[in-house]
Amino acid sequence: MRTEGLTKVYGVADSEVRALDGVSIAVAPGEFVAVMGPSGCGKSTLLNLLGGLDSPTSGRVEVDGADLTALPDDRLTELRRRRIGFVFQAFNLIPVLDAVENAGLPLTLDGASDADERATRWLTRVGLVDRLHNRPDQLSGGQQQRVAVARALSTDPALVLADEPTGNLDSRSATEIAELLQQVAAEWHRSVLMVTHDPRIASYAQRLVLMKDGRVVDDLPLDGSREGPVRAMERAGLL
Ligand code: ADP
Ligand code: MG
Repeated sequence: MRTEGLTKVYGVADSEVRALDGVSIAVAPGEFVAVMGPSGCGKSTLLNLLGGLDSPTSGRVEVDGADLTALPDDRLTELRRRRIGFVFQAFNLIPVLDAVENAGLPLTLDGASDADERATRWLTRVGLVDRLHNRPDQLSGGQQQRVAVARALSTDPALVLADEPTGNLDSRSATEIAELLQQVAAEWHRSVLMVTHDPRIASYAQRLVLMKDGRVVDDLPLDGSREGPVRAMERAGLL
């Protein structure tokens, strides 16, 4: 995934808000990148544009070799459904479906006949082989988020976008999800981009992108030290 000069302006004239202002970043296959920055700096706008949920005012977004901004609507819908996986803070599982049905939902909606089999394979990989037929209310928060990660991976996406994936979890489950996202990148070779407010969780990523006022103010490698993100934020004047 790469962006070039990505810019998003909301509103017009006096009420104009430059939510993103010339953002150029890249996340290679197998790479896990964290994005941090103060509220209102453009993180959600960035994820929405990367996920093809909104279109930029100018600039490019490339996912899996395709320029999202130049794709016709039907191709964009298909690429979004098959090549991009989303993980949200609120898990967003369907209460009446069990883990297999939830994890396989994108495949079922896409008309795949092997949805259960593929969902089961991903649930096994994320450590839920003994919870396959539990509904969300029969799972802990950490387990529900694992189901959501399996769902995001079920279509074999090139890019996984996670918006505050640990925001609703206790610290131990949060660490487990951060480690799982490491695995999604390192072992299963996806590009993973995670927005987080928690510098400890960001420290599990290989790289940190710091944003302020719609711009990237730093983009640096991390070495796995738990304090790395806090030090980078101090240097950038964000703490
Ligand atoms: P973050 O996720 O980092 O908190 P956002 O991407 O949500 O930031 O917002 C960036 C800026 O764009 C903020 O000033 C916000 O108020 C503005 N913004 C976001 N969405 C809209 C919208 N749909 N219409 C107008 N302004 C928006
Ligand atoms: Mg946001």
